[in-house]
Parts: sequence; structure tokens; C-alpha cells
Amino acid sequence: MVEEAKNIAELEAICRNCELCPLAETRQNVVFGEGSGQAGIFLLGEAPGAKEDQIGRPFVGRAGNILNRALDQSGLIREDVFITGSVKCRPPRNRNPHQGEIEACRAFLERQLTLLRPKIVICMGLVSIRNLLGLHSRLAEIRGRFFETPSFRVLPTYHPAAILRGTADASCLAEDFKTAAFEVKLNQ
Ligand code: URA
Repeated sequence: MVEEAKNIAELEAICRNCELCPLAETRQNVVFGEGSGQAGIFLLGEAPGAKEDQIGRPFVGRAGNILNRALDQSGLIREDVFITGSVKCRPPRNRNPHQGEIEACRAFLERQLTLLRPKIVICMGLVSIRNLLGLHSRLAEIRGRFFETPSFRVLPTYHPAAILRGTADASCLAEDFKTAAFEVKLNQ
């Protein structure tokens, strides 16, 4: 079913009715993701929080403000990148998504990547880095470095919430977004 979706709108319609994992029982809204493939950049986060669950859009809370500022500083336009999470439904009390939930949701992520064909996937935070690269390194060791896959390049960076918590510097996020913007332009 998911693999048969011919475009993002069809995939979103399937995702909105998903009941593949227990998060379907506690969510208010599916947060499928939004934006476009225009810039060739795909931003992958962790999981929706309370505000995202309430509204059904990614990064609309305080972490979203940090994300928007970093996008502005890097010259990227929010509507031109695609923004989504490793899971599309809010885990109760904002706990980290369980491995089974990430795996249940992976078909949606893979189809989003197949349909949008980004040049660069920016993984924000360790959950998304483990999900996409299977890497268990410390973020400080890998952030800002490209990892090659057959279909796209992966650029690990901090999750905007880490900046809110004070465990990462806002300038790092903007710097990594700038690196991605520069690379896609270079290879156009
Ligand atoms: N993933 C996140 O980390 N945050 C969101 O708002 C949506 C997806």
C-alpha cells in the first residue's frame, strides 16, 4: 500500500489513517511532514511534540522557532525543504520513540525519500541518525560531516531541542544548514 503511493499527497492520505503501531491510539493528529523537494534538502527529526500533535504540522513549537531561525540564517526557505520526523505520531509525554515504532514508521519515511529524491538528508539528533545510518556515535564526533549512501548524502546535526536545552550551540545548526545549502547549489 505505502509502496504503491504515486505521490506525496497519496502517501499522506495513507499515513493519516495509519494504525501500524500503538502511537495511533494516543495521537491527536498524524504529523506527516511538509514542504517540498524543491531545494533537494530533506530535514529529518525525531517525533512530534505536543504542539505538533495538536496542529498536525512538524516543528511548530519552540524547537520550530529555533529551526526557522537557522533556516533563515542559512538562506534556505522553509517551504522549499521537506521537514518530517522519524515517527509521524507523538509518543506519550514526549518520550523517545521506541525501536518498534520507528520500524513501523520506516516505510513512510522510505517512500517519502523515494518520491522526493533529496540530494541531502539532514538528520537532526541521534534518533534520526540511528534510524537512517545505524550509527551509534556521539553527535559531537559526527556533526557537520557528510555520510554517503547510494541515494543521497546524510549530514548529521543537532536537534533544535538540544539548543533549547542548552546542550548545543544555535550557530552549529545554522552552519550545518549553510553547508547543505552550499553543497546542493554546487552540484546543481
Ligand atoms: N520530528 C521532530 O523532531 N519534531 C517535530 O516537530 C516533528 C518531527
